[in-house]
Amino acid sequence: MRDLLHLPILGTLLRSRWLWRTLRLLALALTLLVIASGWRHHRIPGVEVPDPLMYTSFATFSLWVLWIMGLVLLALVAGRFWCAVCPFGWLNGLLSRYGFKRPLPSWLGGMLPVTLLLVALQIAVYLLAIHRYPDYTARLLVLLLAALIFSSVIFRKHAFCQLFCPAGAVLKCYARVAPFELRVRDSAVCSDCSSTQCVSESKYWQRYALGPAVVHLQRQRPGCPVDIHPRQIDDNSDCTLCMNCVENCCNDNLRLGFRPWLAELQQALLGRGEAFLLLVLTGMVTANFSKVNVPLRELLFAVPKKTALVLGWQADGYFLLSALWITLLLPLLLALPGMIFYRLRSLQVTRVDTPLEPETRHEKRSLFAGLSELLLPTIPLLLASHLILAVVKLNAKLGYLPLTLSDLSGVKSYLAVHLLGTIAQPGVLLSIDLLKWLVVLLLVLGYLLSVLAVKKVAATRDGGSFYLCGALFNISLLAGLYLDTVIRWLFLR
Ligand code: SF4
Ligand code: SF4
Repeated sequence: MRDLLHLPILGTLLRSRWLWRTLRLLALALTLLVIASGWRHHRIPGVEVPDPLMYTSFATFSLWVLWIMGLVLLALVAGRFWCAVCPFGWLNGLLSRYGFKRPLPSWLGGMLPVTLLLVALQIAVYLLAIHRYPDYTARLLVLLLAALIFSSVIFRKHAFCQLFCPAGAVLKCYARVAPFELRVRDSAVCSDCSSTQCVSESKYWQRYALGPAVVHLQRQRPGCPVDIHPRQIDDNSDCTLCMNCVENCCNDNLRLGFRPWLAELQQALLGRGEAFLLLVLTGMVTANFSKVNVPLRELLFAVPKKTALVLGWQADGYFLLSALWITLLLPLLLALPGMIFYRLRSLQVTRVDTPLEPETRHEKRSLFAGLSELLLPTIPLLLASHLILAVVKLNAKLGYLPLTLSDLSGVKSYLAVHLLGTIAQPGVLLSIDLLKWLVVLLLVLGYLLSVLAVKKVAATRDGGSFYLCGALFNISLLAGLYLDTVIRWLFLR
């Protein structure tokens, strides 16, 4: 693996704190521009369409098309690289230095809060269509900024990332398979090193001299935002690639670079929180695929539809039930056959004279552990499916970028394209004939990588053949649903 930190020009750039500061400031300025440009715009008076500004407004376009879809492309290649330039994480680290620095309570420590926030966002998308309106988009960002200030004042380090950032949580899962990592060059060097300045916050003096005038200013090394020592990193999920340890290491013992895909999957274990997040994500991706597959959509949404009818609930009630169904229950149902199969590994038939009390606690725990293990190899397939959604969206809508830059509110652009016809409607980048094969290729690659991951993980598990069958069933079921959608949508229409 080439160490990017030691390449002649790129290495100097990557080590430069000014490069990262500039990128973060730029990202912060863009965030503020999104808020300012979207704040007062909801609809266009006199225009019948309910959400005319969805693609022509800079706010909605840049957050829901460019950023969200671009993030998936970036995650495929560079894992959590976005976190390195994220203005929210950066501000969180800066502000928390001056707050109360309370430790995060253990009940808030896992990924449960952030996953529930992802569910809440899905509810807001279904109920309010926040992704279609610039003012809702701007308010969402302001809410997140308020949560950032709150968590920075109360808690130490990057509590916002852990509590309120679904993007970081999703990147955490995808980074596990990404071909990019930050590791120590030689762990023996770390073992012999008594300094902790690479990861702990510490103060130092900076000397500024201009001729005879000399000023000393006290500075603070930021330390590691997630409290890990680089030597202890054995998977990509926690490191946010902030580069603080690279800057602070007194032995120049860090390396950053590429590695094979799936390199860490067999030794990595998913925590309960990550397993829950993957379930929610599976439901969301599957529901997104079903948007263009009518039979699948009818099938997937039959339960919330019938429940809303029985309860006599109107559209809002149906949307609420749908969001809860696709994020919580549907993915559990999809994973159930594989789980049952995997559980068969512990089936024992013995003759006993006296029945024993069942070991209920042990049974519960092993059922959940089985779910985490089964979900681990679905990550490549999930990432590939997410990537397909991103590629299709970017292919269809990237042409709106010049319009959003020339008119931030999107009002004039909408009128020029859709009412006056003075500007042609932006077209697709790739023709459908090319796109459909690219989509199939991505899906097949994602499936094959997941099969490979199942094989790798099965080799390290007890009851390997039960695991193999259960996990293969799971990923084949998902891949089958997605392939059916792709064929109906891109090949048969
Ligand atoms: S976890 Fe979220 S808020 Fe934190 S740095 Fe990453 S993207 Fe930004
Ligand atoms: S290990 Fe280094 S790069 Fe990763 S989060 Fe900690 S300080 Fe940042």
